[in-house]
Amino acid sequence: MIKDVTDYLETLAPRAYQESYDNAGLICGNPTTKVTGILVSLDCIEAVVQEAIDSGCNLVVAHHPIVFRGLKKITGSNYVERTLLKAIKNDIAIYAIHTNLDNVHQGVNRKIAEKIGLRNLRILDPKKGTLSKLVTFVPKEYTDAVLAALHEAGAGQIGNYKNCSFQIAGKGNFKPTDEANPFVGEAGHQEQVDENRVELVFPNYLEAKVIQALRNSHPYEEVAYYITAVSNVNQEVGSGMIGELEQEMEPLAFLDSLKRSMAIAVIRHTSVIPRKVKKVALCGGAGSFLVPKAIQAGADVFISADFKYHEFFDAEERLIIADIGHYESEVYTKDLLQEVLIKKFPTFAINFSKTVTNPISYL
Ligand SMILES: [Zn+2]
Repeated sequence: MIKDVTDYLETLAPRAYQESYDNAGLICGNPTTKVTGILVSLDCIEAVVQEAIDSGCNLVVAHHPIVFRGLKKITGSNYVERTLLKAIKNDIAIYAIHTNLDNVHQGVNRKIAEKIGLRNLRILDPKKGTLSKLVTFVPKEYTDAVLAALHEAGAGQIGNYKNCSFQIAGKGNFKPTDEANPFVGEAGHQEQVDENRVELVFPNYLEAKVIQALRNSHPYEEVAYYITAVSNVNQEVGSGMIGELEQEMEPLAFLDSLKRSMAIAVIRHTSVIPRKVKKVALCGGAGSFLVPKAIQAGADVFISADFKYHEFFDAEERLIIADIGHYESEVYTKDLLQEVLIKKFPTFAINFSKTVTNPISYL
């Protein structure tokens, strides 16, 4: 089913992590349709839908959403409407995994960093307000079972550490009313039970799942818990990435090697400051908004795309801005998508789109 594929992709790049202006997710098609094959592309345009038809794939997984703004008419008057009409007519589903894939640690930027050989990677501008903390109170002998269920639901993950929690022993006090059906004690009697106070963090988007796991695994009729917002930044989610070269390089030599490793024809860059390159920040696609963060993080070079003339001035000789082109910076996202899909669905046909969707040519 299409839903199995998209659900899996959303475990890697939850839709909750897309930017507010984005339109990631299933754009057309029925989630319960059986998948005949998947075509992976950076953009889904008419030629890509044709390629899907020709290769017997009924699902296109693309980075950029073909429908970005609301459509009021679908008459085929532009390439967006024509692509959509063609896809619907031919039962081709289109799924977009866009800024949610930009914003996760294992996403678009990780792939670029891999291509240019960066190490010690971290998110350049980690997001705030994506985490919550659950505190609950569990009878001692049920603590392990409740924790196991909460971990299974995705709570308690911090960076590369799974199953993280804190617990402290104490006494739980309560008096069941006549209407209660208590697991411990009886109506009208004050009870005291050996309980553990258990604390775990979890990403906000998993709240419903975590609470359901808590209720299902906790033995009490009335489960005592509270959820608080955590204002920590989430190191796993956010824009851009920064890392280090294994060995520092002369700036021009670095730009040359960047051209080779990313197979780029042209780099538009700011003046080559006489400082060796070691720390490299990057952002696939339009990333000029991250220049201040890259400077703050001490990057020697910031690789991104879609810089306007005046935005190049922001480098102020504090780093080198290297605009490598939007398509060029993100084209390896296709490899990333193909790799993760083949790993998870080894029996499916997962084709790599041969259509060059870059609308820009260089003379
Ligand atoms: Zn893009």
